[in-house]
Parts: sequence; C-alpha cells; structure tokens
Amino acid sequence: MSKEVANDTIKTISMVGEFNLIRELFMPLQRQTGSSPDPVNGDDAAVVTVPRTQQLLVTTDTLVEGVHFQSDTDPYLLGQKALRVNLSDIAAMGGNPRWYQLSISMPPSVSYHWVSEVARGLKEAGETFNVSLVGGDTVSTRGCISLTITMLGLVGQGRAVLRKGAMAGDKLYVSGTVGDAALGWSQRRGVLQVLEGEDISHLQRRLDLPEPRIALGLALQDAALMRAAIDISDGLVADLEHIAQASGVGAVIHAEKLPLSPAAQRVVHRLGGVTVSEIGKLVFCGGEDYELLFAAAPACHEQIMEISQQVGVPITEIGEFTAEVGQVAVLYQGQTVRLKRAGWTHF
Ligand code: ADP
Ligand code: MG
Repeated sequence: MSKEVANDTIKTISMVGEFNLIRELFMPLQRQTGSSPDPVNGDDAAVVTVPRTQQLLVTTDTLVEGVHFQSDTDPYLLGQKALRVNLSDIAAMGGNPRWYQLSISMPPSVSYHWVSEVARGLKEAGETFNVSLVGGDTVSTRGCISLTITMLGLVGQGRAVLRKGAMAGDKLYVSGTVGDAALGWSQRRGVLQVLEGEDISHLQRRLDLPEPRIALGLALQDAALMRAAIDISDGLVADLEHIAQASGVGAVIHAEKLPLSPAAQRVVHRLGGVTVSEIGKLVFCGGEDYELLFAAAPACHEQIMEISQQVGVPITEIGEFTAEVGQVAVLYQGQTVRLKRAGWTHF
C-alpha cells in the first residue's frame, strides 16, 4: 500500500470538511459532454439547457448500506454501479443520458479514501457513458451511508418509450443474457458451490458492473421499434408484470428460449435445469441484470435483429403478449413453471 493511500485511509471526512470534500472529490466529476451551452454548476441550483425539440427524463436511485451494499463492498465498484443502474433507467426509456446529481449521506468517521474510491468509480462510469455531474448534496448522518443519484437525460418530444404500450400479439424481447447477476450474488453468499474460475468472475462482473444498454435503447427508440420497455432490475418476471399491468395485457415467457451466458448454462445444467424451483427462482426472479425487456410488433422482427447486429448486443425473442389481462406465465415446453416468488420488493 502506498504512503498516500495509507494516509487517506486514516484520514476521515470530518478532518477534511464538507466543502473541501466537494471541491476535491466531486467537482472533478464535472465534464464537458458536448452539450451546448455547458451547464451552470456549483451554484444554488444547476442550470441545464434542454433543446426545444427534446424532453427531459429524470430518474433517481438510492443505494443504502446494509440494504443494497455491505460495509465491506468495494467503494470503487459501488460508485460504478450507482451510476450504471441510473443510466439503465434512461436506456429503458430510449433516452440519451446527459447529467446527474449526487446526494451522499455519511457518518463523519468514514475514511477519505473510501469516498475517493466511490468518486473514482463515478468518474470512470461518467467517462464511459459521457455524463457529467451537475451538483448534489453532501450531508452527515449518524446512521448508515446512503448514496442517491438523480440522472437527467434527453429524448425527442413524445418519443419516450413507456411501460404501457404493449399489445396482445406483440413479441417479447430481451437483450443480452439473463440470470447472471442473481447467480453471481448466490455464489458470493456461498449458496452456489458448483462454480469455478472464469465462470465465477463472469457472473460477479455482471453483478458488479451492469452494462446499461444505452446505445441499444437509443437505436430501437430511433427506429420506433419498442412499443413498451423496462430494464430488468427487480427480476425478469416481476419486471414483465410491470409492463403487462401498465399495458393492460398478459404475457408468456418460453423458458427454453431464455438467453443464458455460458457460465449460467453450466450452473443451470449442473443443478438440474431451469425448471428446478431453486434455480428457476434465481433466473426468473433474481433481477439486477439491467437488460432491456421490451414489446414489439411481430412485423418488426427483422429490423430488430438488424439493430442488434449493428449495436453488437444480442436480442432474443422469449415470448409474447396475450389478451389475458395481468396474467404472466412461464412455460417450459408448453408446461407451466411454478415460481416461488415474483421478484424483489423492499416492504
Ligand atoms: P446549499 O446550501 O445551497 O444546499 P450546498 O452547500 O449543499 O448548497 O452545496 C454547494 C454546492 O456544491 C452546490 O452547487 C451543490 O450542487 C454542490 N454539491 C454539494 N454536494 C455535492 C456532491 N455530492 N456532488 C456534487 N456537487 C455537490
Ligand atoms: Mg445542500
């Protein structure tokens, strides 16, 4: 460990003070993102300019110590993930993420090094996805650490893709692969012991560094191919239920069509297949994959596959929407799969 890091580990944020902390760690997260004119930062409120043909998308997510992360979680990965999950919400609307605010509550005893690592994670994710910090709030608490990001994005007037809009007869599509994050989480808790080497690191990476599907969401939105969309945060089935409810339709997933990563395929195979309730619960209800789940008219299939090729993200048709309002079913070779729990809820 370098001398500098050792000092930062001993140094607490109370020794540095609120304004120094903001100046040293958070202000550098402001960047030029090519928006014109540049936002006004560091004032009582930020000023961003929304072009006349665009609408503003606003979304917030909070990560709380003891609920979303543990005190020994790598703070760099925490910073990365905090930004990525918010970016995913903008992607699910077909939007272009531009700016974010950071609100952080911490006990005074937190080390400067810990906060600087969170800031490093935010900085890298901000650079990767071309978004700039435009202010926030930094407060002390006697309780747990809490991190809130509010992400702002742009979308053409009337072009935002909502959860409502799916129609009976539409096809159901998902990007990337599903189930990886939940399997990675089970592995980390010591519940899954059938994994080895590279498979472990693949699943953990999917859990720690989700890939917000911004380019894909934008391309599909631009071509008007998604009738309704959501990102998978609570679980495949739970999030599909959100689309079905908002749209006033039902839906069916065909389990044999699910895109599983090679690592996930090996676990599922070893544990007896996706219809075994324990493994099905992880794959269908686990969440945190941050893939796009969307409805599209059957006639759009070829165009969707072309965009998948262009963007370089696989898209798989995994089911369809039905007229059975509010009913979401999982079938495996035509037989209903019974699931223990639909998805994650806080209360
Ligand atoms: P106020 O008292 O008006 O709420 P603050 O003292 O909280 O203002 O913040 C001063 C400035 O520093 C504001 O422009 C605010 O946006 C910015 N700021 C505070 N905390 C953060 C943070 N965590 N990240 C980025 N900017 C921050
Ligand atoms: Mg304030």
